[in-house]
Amino acid sequence: MMTERVSGTREWSGHSMNIGVGCSNNCRYCYARAGQRRWQRENWLNWHKGFVFNPKWYDKWMKTNRAKKKGIMTPTQHDITEDNWEKMRDVILHNHGLGSRILIVSKGGRGLELLAHSLMQSTWIGNRGKIEIRISIGSTQNETLAFWEPGAPGYEIRKYDLKLAYDLDFNTSVSCEPYLSTADDLIRLIAKVRLYCTQGIWIGPLNKLNERVNFQAITAEENKRFVQPVLDNQTPESVGRIHDMIGSFCEADEWHGVHYKCEFRELLNKHQEQEA
Ligand code: SF4
Repeated sequence: MMTERVSGTREWSGHSMNIGVGCSNNCRYCYARAGQRRWQRENWLNWHKGFVFNPKWYDKWMKTNRAKKKGIMTPTQHDITEDNWEKMRDVILHNHGLGSRILIVSKGGRGLELLAHSLMQSTWIGNRGKIEIRISIGSTQNETLAFWEPGAPGYEIRKYDLKLAYDLDFNTSVSCEPYLSTADDLIRLIAKVRLYCTQGIWIGPLNKLNERVNFQAITAEENKRFVQPVLDNQTPESVGRIHDMIGSFCEADEWHGVHYKCEFRELLNKHQEQEA
């Protein structure tokens, strides 16, 4: 029997909730901006200027009247900022109130912190379990983050926000998708954040790199320092090695919270077939 391939955000939830588009994090690999470009929507050119509110999307999510059984991930077309966190709180509380499981994914910062505190005050503790805050952290190295995600907070702020969400009793996790550095850095990241991840750490490669990244804006030196290591670390052989290293680390540590995204598992299968 054929099983359906479930990848991307569908591995995490059935619905994406956004109240606008655009993101000053301006990640070089941004899948959402690439989608806007593919559909020839003008806003992909202004993506880096930041969030633009869409009242129709906000109204739509404020008017839903049923829980979404497969859960809601939010946001996927922008991040949470000081300008939009209150409206994000409205749509999250409305849909959480209907019984939907809510997965908030962010690269952290002041907007997320304000949202987390406000949600904590608005939800009773036993019910807060249906809200998970997932912080995206692709590396512990700020130089690497600054290259790939030039407008996003650095590593320390993201780790602080993860701990904040944990201390406020939300379910918590880290998305290390895409992982942007070496196997050693991945292990370092797991070691540093695992205590604050009630729902584990997701690891996945940088998909469709050639389609999404503008190589014309990258110097030869940057290519060597930041792009080539990513490519080198997502070959089937490297994925096999990373998987083994993480396996040994987690076993020694008796921590079993690492989840691998579909594309990582496929590369691992390829490696195992080559080895067989
Ligand atoms: S944080 Fe997400 S939406 Fe914002 S630029 Fe990065 S990948 Fe795109």
